Amino acid sequence: MSMKIVEVKNLTVKYNGVEALSGVSLEVDPADYVGVVGPNGSGKTTLIKALLGLVPYEGQVYFLEKGFSCFTKEKHVGYLPQKMSFLDQRFPATALEIVVSGVYCCKKFPKRLSRDDYTAAEEAMEILGITNLKDRPIGRLSGGQQQRVLLARALVHRPEILILDEPTVALDPQSREAFYATLQKLNKERKVTVFFVSHDVVSIGKYASKILYLDRQIIFYGTFEEFCKSPKMTDYFGAGQHIICHRH
Ligand code: ADP
Repeated sequence: MSMKIVEVKNLTVKYNGVEALSGVSLEVDPADYVGVVGPNGSGKTTLIKALLGLVPYEGQVYFLEKGFSCFTKEKHVGYLPQKMSFLDQRFPATALEIVVSGVYCCKKFPKRLSRDDYTAAEEAMEILGITNLKDRPIGRLSGGQQQRVLLARALVHRPEILILDEPTVALDPQSREAFYATLQKLNKERKVTVFFVSHDVVSIGKYASKILYLDRQIIFYGTFEEFCKSPKMTDYFGAGQHIICHRH
């Protein structure tokens, strides 16, 4: 049996006694690219929060077959939230300074940045093709550029798993495709396991190796091709509704 990078067993999350997730179990293989989809309020963000240990839950979440504590988990998991906007255009940090700040999660007191940290930050920026933005003030970059800077920051400590919660909502369609493609490259070339919450099943379906369709429970978990043909999904969406599936 191959090693699973994430294993979730019978996960239930309640808010004020109401179940947002109910008995969710799933396994993720190393270097999988999981697209998490489902209607609004179906528990996608809650699943991510449970994976990150940000909400109390019943059941088990294992990373790399071990129950990591919150602190060790941070070394292995990179997280990119929906949107973090630098509203103040004069925010006094360059793109490189934002990227390098990603190492703080793994540093012990007295949290000094080293030459190696800057090298890691420059490498992450190179992977994402944003070396040219290095010295630009973060507040003066476009939304798409800021998201890439934040992705580089999430990568700087070389996590094995990257968790992203609709990081492309604020992007125009072109930047969105570029962002998906960048992630796919990271996934294929660096074998980073990706867990990507998206509201757009067709877009994510083009890139993800697996689709997880949530609606408080797991409605479907498998490849995009299987998803398109799944009788379970046809039942779920109702007869006559078709999922438009095409990959390039
Ligand atoms: P999604 O990300 O799929 O839109 P969420 O995980 O954000 O769904 O939410 C799932 C359900 O849990 C929704 O009904 C939402 O209203 C509820 N919920 C989410 N966060 C909280 C919270 N902090 N307190 C109470 N209810 C919440």
